[in-house]
Amino acid sequence: MDAVERTNTTLIFGRPDRLPVDLHNFQPAAAAMGIPLQEVFRNGELLAESQIRAWREFGHDVILLESGTSSSAEACGVEVVYRDDAAPVATRPALSSLEDVEKLRPLDPWTTFPWSEILKATRIVAREIGDRAYIIGRGDQGPFSLALMLRGYEAFMLDIALNEKPHLIERLLDYCRETATRFAMAQIEAGAHATSIGESPSGPDVVSPRHYRRWAFPHQVRMIGAFRAQGKVIAHHICGNVASILDDFVATGAQITEIDHKTDLAKARDAARGKTTILGPIDTNLLAFGTPDAVDAACREAIDTMRGNAPFHTGFILGPGCALAPETPDDNIHALVEAARKYGRNDDQP
Ligand SMILES: [Zn+2]
Repeated sequence: MDAVERTNTTLIFGRPDRLPVDLHNFQPAAAAMGIPLQEVFRNGELLAESQIRAWREFGHDVILLESGTSSSAEACGVEVVYRDDAAPVATRPALSSLEDVEKLRPLDPWTTFPWSEILKATRIVAREIGDRAYIIGRGDQGPFSLALMLRGYEAFMLDIALNEKPHLIERLLDYCRETATRFAMAQIEAGAHATSIGESPSGPDVVSPRHYRRWAFPHQVRMIGAFRAQGKVIAHHICGNVASILDDFVATGAQITEIDHKTDLAKARDAARGKTTILGPIDTNLLAFGTPDAVDAACREAIDTMRGNAPFHTGFILGPGCALAPETPDDNIHALVEAARKYGRNDDQP
């Protein structure tokens, strides 16, 4: 089986020859280019080259292509600072009041920076290795996270806690959902096999489950539903401990659910079984600062837990629980990729 077949088989809970393995490695891949990270993240050709080089080095099945968690915010007018040693960060919100939502206009992902560069990278990676690697073109932030970035963290938290202008909050979330959908769809048009959204700020580490259900969940369901209705695959990322919203998280309908090591994996497996494929959950700190043996042991444990009593490995993509730090050593990444080959095989079982 090739990587695309292996991943597609996994997503429909068939029997792949072995578990696929993913890397969430845009930072170490950019660092390996030996130039300031911001040069890579601003340039579609360099971003593509960093991912293709990393794929040649590690041979992972699934590529998660992105340049950080602020590209949609930047496209929408949030001030972003690019750095030499890490991903860009949002620094100043675009909306000084909720009423400013009236000023927001639809944007074209193909001509708006930095989306245009990320889509260029997706096109190149898809053209060069899209027949041998399963490409998830990250659609950056989902509706809730994007709204929080446009409005600013503290202001948005206050908006939803006071709830004095629910119609304007909904207007903002509608705008963010439509904007996120447009960019994520463009990722697939650019040649990615699937797309994905990050919604970690909607998780229990940041907002209560009550606020999650009221403000984030309905828009996630609607956005993900739009992809499912067209037969397109979308992954949904909420890191941190998602135990208290696990059933809702799965019920958003994403074919791939990204979780990290803070969530009880057996509980996630039981909630996900037959409904969504789990991607994760290896601790990015372990990958950055642990030893290859420790990475190997964590991967083996995760693979065993995800298998449970099932007759064969499926519905699981092994990978980091979140974005790998720029300094993550190659040996640890090799250990992660190798673990899927060592412990995730189905072809040596009857
Ligand atoms: Zn994360």
